[in-house]
Amino acid sequence: MSVSESAAVSVSSTIGGKAHPTAATFDVVNPATGEVFATAPDASAADVDAAVRAAAQAYPSWRSDAKTRREVLNAAADALLAALDEIVPILTAEQGKPLAESAREVQTAAMFFRYYADMELPREVLRDDESAFVQLVRRPLGPVAVIAPWNFPLTLAGAKIAPALSAGNTVVLKPSPFTPLSSLKVGEVLREVLPAGVLNVISGGNEAGAAMTTHPLIRKISFTGSIATGKAIAAAAAADLKRTTLELGGNDPVIVLEGADPVRVAEGVFPRAFSNSGQVCVAPKRVYAHESLRPALVEALAELARDAKVGDGSLAGTELGPVNNRPQLERVAELVDDAVRHGATVAAGGGVIDGKGYFYQPTILTDLGDGVRIVDEEQFGPALPVIGYRDLDDAVARANATHFGLGSSVWGEDLERAAAVAERLEAGTTWVNTHTARSLDEPFAGVKWSGIGVESGRWGLKGFTEFHLIHQAR
Ligand code: NAD
Repeated sequence: MSVSESAAVSVSSTIGGKAHPTAATFDVVNPATGEVFATAPDASAADVDAAVRAAAQAYPSWRSDAKTRREVLNAAADALLAALDEIVPILTAEQGKPLAESAREVQTAAMFFRYYADMELPREVLRDDESAFVQLVRRPLGPVAVIAPWNFPLTLAGAKIAPALSAGNTVVLKPSPFTPLSSLKVGEVLREVLPAGVLNVISGGNEAGAAMTTHPLIRKISFTGSIATGKAIAAAAAADLKRTTLELGGNDPVIVLEGADPVRVAEGVFPRAFSNSGQVCVAPKRVYAHESLRPALVEALAELARDAKVGDGSLAGTELGPVNNRPQLERVAELVDDAVRHGATVAAGGGVIDGKGYFYQPTILTDLGDGVRIVDEEQFGPALPVIGYRDLDDAVARANATHFGLGSSVWGEDLERAAAVAERLEAGTTWVNTHTARSLDEPFAGVKWSGIGVESGRWGLKGFTEFHLIHQAR
């Protein structure tokens, strides 16, 4: 049963291990119907303060007991998986993605808890001789603010909360106001497992986020979201020299080399560009294709776009859900319309789908180049421009001529050549003959404006610590 058919969703904030009432609420819209289906607590500055104080109170005992942390984080993974059927329909109703993808989000969040539960950062002995015994120890930072966006509310929050808690910090989580309910639900589920105050979950607008980033007891801000908000958070953090990890937007280039098989490339690029309806930070967002194969690649991509089943994520058979919210739908439409005004050819899609939901046709554009907004900016939606090139050096230069630096990929039959081109791209990650593939032990980071700091793997755990050198004279 989908949430839209079931009784209204009712979830509360979690502060100090208990439900926390707020005076105000805000509406949550199901993007597949365009209708309000629930309300969420709207945290005031006083509620933010209560959450941060609860995290600060829980910190001393949490940080001092690594054994309990390990047991509790493994139990948290179990609890999330046990509550899968409750969380999944809520996530699909507020975010739009198909139920199977919502299930994968919950499973991935649980995997992060399990992965970091057992990871240690052992002390390093730097010197042990007649002059000194020198050790490097990693310490937690204190209460951490975790602020997440609406495209993968649970996976992205899990990638931060699990290492933060494993390292001995305590957390206040604030999801996006477009997708607050699944995170609040996770807070409720984990109340049963985590000691009071270790994880506090509140919801609210951007002001609540800003109140977290300026709170004097917060020692680190771990943020995923837009570049504009990332810069505002960096500025807010600077006043108190709070530590930050910023995972920000991307405009990933894809370079398709001469001699590549256009159908194989289309079959590889399309699902990665259109998964979650293109609302993925590291999705392919602009394709540079050698002119000799561009028409065939465009046709193969267009065919896949026309065949994709767009619909309500809670219905069986849906492959692509709606765009998450109306402003984002309008932005995607505006960028496609702008490209068409600048002479782009629409090979597939090109318009909003009639109805109350926020649906946009999977769209393939070509006959356009740099200087057009959908090429230069992050579209974050189901529309992909394919740009022709004749000179590889020129394609590499255009791929790099941007403030973005999250992901990128190179596709071709000649692996050695593709790998050599990969080395020349400016990005946190460059894939060869794939894109977006990730595992928990691989570090993930953006360069340039796409981010500061590293998540995942042991680097993700280190990011929630600072070092303490103990130098003992002999
Ligand atoms: P957003 O920046 O608008 O909002 C993200 C979060 O920040 C929300 O919870 C919001 O309430 C909060 N916020 C807004 N203003 C704030 C402020 N001044 N202080 C503190 N918090 C504030 O981003 P979005 O539209 O929700 O997400 C889409 C963006 O996220 C895209 O650019 C996408 O590329 C990026 N993203 C990046 C990654 C990554 O890992 N690099 C992953 C997913 C999404």
